[in-house]
Amino acid sequence: MIRYCCDLCRRTIGEHERRYVVHMDVFPGNEEIYPEELEEDRDHLAELDQLLEGLEPEEEEPCCRQFRFDLCVQCYRRFVRNPLGRESVGSFKISPN
Ligand SMILES: [Zn+2]
Repeated sequence: MIRYCCDLCRRTIGEHERRYVVHMDVFPGNEEIYPEELEEDRDHLAELDQLLEGLEPEEEEPCCRQFRFDLCVQCYRRFVRNPLGRESVGSFKISPN
């Protein structure tokens, strides 16, 4: 039997308890649309970026990352209210403009 554990509060999620899965993909947005067509340009742009920013080649930085989390009901509710963990959760003031 597979046991799931909430990745936020570390609580074991019971077999008959509702479990939520968070699946996140993080990737560079400008390579999202036509990755194959951009292939030719990419090296050139990467070189340019490195020249401009004086950075090391990006080999150590994976171009995209995937995350998967199991959440219990309570943590799911908290998560959907503030998925990025921003601090200003307390004030839900909506600007009139
Ligand atoms: Zn939890």
